[in-house]
Amino acid sequence: MAHKPMASAESLDDGQVEALDSKPIEPSSDFLKKAEAESGVNISACYGCKKCSNGCPVAFAMDLHPYQVVRYVQLGMVDQLKDCETIWVCSSCQTCVTRCPNDVDLPRMMDYLKETVARERRPVSQKRVLQFHQIFMSEIKTWGRVFEGSLMTRYMFKSGDFTDPKKAVKDARLGWAMFKRGRLRLLPDRNKDRKWLKELFREEGKSS
Ligand code: SF4
Ligand code: SF4
Repeated sequence: MAHKPMASAESLDDGQVEALDSKPIEPSSDFLKKAEAESGVNISACYGCKKCSNGCPVAFAMDLHPYQVVRYVQLGMVDQLKDCETIWVCSSCQTCVTRCPNDVDLPRMMDYLKETVARERRPVSQKRVLQFHQIFMSEIKTWGRVFEGSLMTRYMFKSGDFTDPKKAVKDARLGWAMFKRGRLRLLPDRNKDRKWLKELFREEGKSS
């Protein structure tokens, strides 16, 4: 689905949200119940005040406002959500949660939606974000935390950045600068208490 370009959050009312899709809406709470149970986010608590969207620093780059994504989940409009760019553009900065009067954890919900799409191996508009997300999760699974050296190397190969000499040199310079400041380790630092993490991924695998 190609969404319309963004307007400001204040300029959209519920009728316009509905008009974003040409198909008639057939509300269903099935996906809402599933998403709440699996993500642990109280999505039903949202009453559409838009405070989250008005404070989102990357809303300008989104095709749906964060509050609209919540609304789509509430209505069970899953297919529209899986094709939207907003879930990939969200930077998990937490601004929306701190502004929300009902403590709706939007970034957590966005992560849940990302995982849902990734599991289905659907083509996504923001392919590089998906690649980064998959490598990030793989790092967590392997080390119990992120090992930046491996993360960036794997990302450069998967995204094809290593074939661009200018980009490769720029990334290498950044890596060296981070190393000099003690922000980049040469060897991974494994999380010693990874038993619970393994269990978590095992459970996640069962539910997917
Ligand atoms: S701030 Fe919270 S209640 Fe308001 S629209 Fe956003 S998620 Fe919903
Ligand atoms: S966490 Fe995502 S949706 Fe929330 S304010 Fe930050 S970028 Fe926007």
